[in-house]
Amino acid sequence: MEPIDPTGEWPLDVVVVGSANVDLVVRVDRRPGRGETVLGSDLSTHPGGKGANQAVAAARLGARVALLGRVGADGHGRLLRESLERDKVDLGHLREAGAPTGVALITVGPEGDNSIIVSPGANARLEEQDVADAAGLLRSAPVVSLQLETPLPTVLAAARAAHRAVFNLSPPAPVPDELLALCDPLVVNEHEARMVLGAGGPPAEQARALLRLGPRSVVITLGAGGAVAADASGVTTIPSPRVEAVDTTGAGDAFTGALAWRLARGDGLADAVAFAVRVGAATVRGAGAQSSFPTLSEVEEP
Ligand code: ADP
Repeated sequence: MEPIDPTGEWPLDVVVVGSANVDLVVRVDRRPGRGETVLGSDLSTHPGGKGANQAVAAARLGARVALLGRVGADGHGRLLRESLERDKVDLGHLREAGAPTGVALITVGPEGDNSIIVSPGANARLEEQDVADAAGLLRSAPVVSLQLETPLPTVLAAARAAHRAVFNLSPPAPVPDELLALCDPLVVNEHEARMVLGAGGPPAEQARALLRLGPRSVVITLGAGGAVAADASGVTTIPSPRVEAVDTTGAGDAFTGALAWRLARGDGLADAVAFAVRVGAATVRGAGAQSSFPTLSEVEEP
């Protein structure tokens, strides 16, 4: 693998390979039972999907980002393209699939509790061949950012083709050792860490245990507790600034997008995580996912 040269002239900072969904949200007083109909609030429609969220998070901070993914030839696909373009995400490799755009059907209960049905649609049609076709794109950025809302063989192919793969193992699922070995870093929240390891424990211990599974580095996000970063040089805990949390939706995606950008710029892992923690904290202060992602001036230290 070629070394990363942060002083080189890369056309892009980050290529995100992943999902783009439309989130359809209705508030309900209670959820329908089997065979029952209930009335809900007006529908609200939001751009989402972990891949698009990571791309928008990085782009809003000033990164040059491309999204390799698939949407349908439908109104939702157009909506996603328009919103991604507004955030200046390069869509030259956002292809159309012979399937509807991915959708998340979300009901929000009276206590703010979410129930979600995801219809992956076009995201499930992102294939290894799409990665092969975009080999030049993947080589044009120092970092490729990945998640698991697209098929695993596609994610693995992208990790193989990347100079450096940042992989958010979310939603959690078993992944091959080869993929873990390509992660630099593997990014998980506490719940995902427990799923991968099959046991809980102190975050620093969890990070060391994950490192033993093969990744070159590991980051565990800890919600209001910040994050832990681990690599061969040791384990660092980075606390989060205290904020009033309004809505944590998309915090992990914003964190990972910000992390990918800072690593692409040549930051060391602990510095990149310290920045990403501030971006995650800024995100939870506002409602929604992409709508609450900060710009650079909102997270720069005074
Ligand atoms: P996920 O959204 O994947 O479950 P976390 O809940 O760990 O991930 O959040 C990711 C990051 O967002 C954290 O590392 C932190 O920087 C920030 N964050 C999340 N919740 C809070 C909170 N209540 N207060 C401050 N920062 C938060």
